[in-house]
Amino acid sequence: MKVPANVLAPQFYMHQEEYEAKAMEVLRSGWYVLGKEVSSFEQEFANYIGAKYSVGLASGLDALWLAFRVLGIKAGDEVIVQGNTYIASVMGITINGATPVFVEPNAYHNIDVNKIEEKITEKTKAILVVHLYGQASKMDKIQTLCKKHDLYLVEDCAQSHGAAYQGQMTGTFGAIGCFSFYPSKNLGAFGDAGAITTNREDIAEAFKMYRNYGSEKRYYNKVVGANSRLDEMQAGLLRVKLKYLNALNDERQELCERYLNKIKNPVIALPKIQEGATTVWHQFVIQTAYRDEFIEYLNKHEIGSIIHYPIPPHLSEAYQYLGLKEGSLPITEKRANEVLSIPLFNGMKKEEQDYVIDQINQFKPEEKL
Ligand SMILES: *Cc1c(COP(=O)(O)O)cnc(C)c1O
Repeated sequence: MKVPANVLAPQFYMHQEEYEAKAMEVLRSGWYVLGKEVSSFEQEFANYIGAKYSVGLASGLDALWLAFRVLGIKAGDEVIVQGNTYIASVMGITINGATPVFVEPNAYHNIDVNKIEEKITEKTKAILVVHLYGQASKMDKIQTLCKKHDLYLVEDCAQSHGAAYQGQMTGTFGAIGCFSFYPSKNLGAFGDAGAITTNREDIAEAFKMYRNYGSEKRYYNKVVGANSRLDEMQAGLLRVKLKYLNALNDERQELCERYLNKIKNPVIALPKIQEGATTVWHQFVIQTAYRDEFIEYLNKHEIGSIIHYPIPPHLSEAYQYLGLKEGSLPITEKRANEVLSIPLFNGMKKEEQDYVIDQINQFKPEEKL
């Protein structure tokens, strides 16, 4: 049996008729960028998250870099972020000229809240929290730190649509929640798309200005902005998918519970959930010291897998200018060498999952560590 790491077509076919009807409606409307679909989606998404406002954008990266732009964070400022994140989180900071200050992750792959305070300096302006792999971070402690040190709190929710900490949804804890609707995200569009959530009207207004060349009124430009408009096609299709987001997340939860209950292999560590947090299982990430051998074994049995992420941002070529050498973030670097996402997607069949579980349970490393 062949099982890919991820496939997107099954979720489209689950509600094919509705997506096709919406696509035709948009095509025939004669209005394609920033229209009725976008404003309806913004309202519906804000309601879903439990925020006052949402503003549609062209991508998750735009949500991140515009967030720091809108907050006035610039060269000379520092932003705290976990070391083991997708590089877009870090680019959101550095596009503005600000400096990322990395903190090691905890056992749940989120920022270790006990290691934040030692990194705060007079230059620190914000904490960027990433709810990695779909699990909400420990927000009570982080909010307390932000209040104590007068820092902005920005959330990278690109992987956590619908995840909560102590009953409150990610994207509502700080000044700005940044979302991506890249097709493989839990709430995925059929192309690139993103959004922010906020409870502050002035911030929502600023994003509306920045996303459209810095203009509130046509041809009057207040600031140097961006072209980060959300189009009607993506917004319309996202409105359809948003109705099914809870069902899609529930299906992932069921699949992951089966993995948690049935994978039994002494060299494979399974993911853990922090007390008070929920996860929407963007990925099911195992950890093993035998990763290379394990990937080869999975390949041999035609099981797909993906490393999220093989090179931590501070060691990537793009960030050599920060001067952080190998060994500077040992926990982050160990994760990069040991984590692996195994097959998980909406529409995954029971036979496919049973096959994956069976093969994983039979894996025995030959290599001696
Ligand atoms: C996907 C992702 C982003 C970037 O979103 P795009 O829409 O691809 O720009 C940012 N942060 C994290 C954690 C992501 O997973």
